[in-house]
Amino acid sequence: TQATAPSTLEFTVSRRPDVLPDAEREAILANPGFGKKFTDHMILATWTPGEGWHDGKVTAYGPISLDPSAAVLHYAQEIFEGMKAYRHADGSIWTFRPEANAARFARSARRLALPELPEADFLASLTALVEVDQAWVPSGEAGEASLYLRPFMFASEAFLGVRPAAQVTYCVIASPAGAYFSGGVKPVSIWLSTDYTRAAPGGTGAAKCGGNYAASLAAQVEASAHGCDQVAFLDAVEHRWVEELGGMNLYFVRRDGSIVTPELTGTILEGVTRASILELAKDLGHSVQERRISIEEWREGVASGDITEVFACGTAAVVTPVGRLAWEGGELSVNGGETGSTTLAIRQALLDLQYGRAEDTRGWLT
Ligand code: PMP
Repeated sequence: TQATAPSTLEFTVSRRPDVLPDAEREAILANPGFGKKFTDHMILATWTPGEGWHDGKVTAYGPISLDPSAAVLHYAQEIFEGMKAYRHADGSIWTFRPEANAARFARSARRLALPELPEADFLASLTALVEVDQAWVPSGEAGEASLYLRPFMFASEAFLGVRPAAQVTYCVIASPAGAYFSGGVKPVSIWLSTDYTRAAPGGTGAAKCGGNYAASLAAQVEASAHGCDQVAFLDAVEHRWVEELGGMNLYFVRRDGSIVTPELTGTILEGVTRASILELAKDLGHSVQERRISIEEWREGVASGDITEVFACGTAAVVTPVGRLAWEGGELSVNGGETGSTTLAIRQALLDLQYGRAEDTRGWLT
């Protein structure tokens, strides 16, 4: 496929003369929050049917000018990725399994009828941006800080017809991210959405496209109204099988030490963290299963003690314990609302790898 095609892009670097002064950048890095502050530069590239990918550049971060008829603003032909750059104790900077994000980006592109970006160009764009903005990668060790990288692609053609756009823009921006949990790992509460579904068979659930997230917001509002942090979605056909959260995959830890995650059905996003935990958990001695898990199994398993821990996982929050599940007319607490030891061990194993404290036996770091 196109995704494995050789690189076609060069990223011409034009450094901005007015980068943020060191002291101001350091002040941001000391307390970055999430997704609010951005580095000095960004990546841009353009695709047209005639020229393919061209005009790659590293340029000053700033507003993009779009025609009001740009197709993305009307029909949401857009995809994105999310990953992090981690600074190790020796000062070196690493990304975690970026090829997996490149492959998912290409799959998302196919589903949204966008042009695929070759893996080599995707990886080169990350390197080019992190190289220029390396001072923005926080020293991660203590506070689990990192530089969040957000590659995205959208239909920038000025045209109101409904068809795949003939001009597409690729962009990468970067945002320093602090520890997701200030004050230690805190279990989240989950609202089980029964009115809303996230993705139907044949739909876009396995693609990382903006529309999926727009469609999840009403359910998120419902969750907040019920005092919950996140939404869990069930399958759209039987309303019975547990799929995932709005932005994280789910894992269940059983009394016998085995761990289970919902199998990939085409309606679930294939998380890089999810896939990595499948392997890391085996190293830690757990047997792992990918299979369907029903909402009754979750409820009854917690009640009977067969399910001892539940956790969510994704790039942003790494591994997050689930302390409570609530739905219209009921709720239950998981593991007494406390963080379980298996959840913590898996979380630690992943962080040790990402921050260079464990040996990278699988070649997952770039
Ligand atoms: N599910 C959804 C819907 C997501 O948005 C994300 C975040 N990308 C995940 C799962 C977790 O994926 P990853 O581990 O690749 O961050």
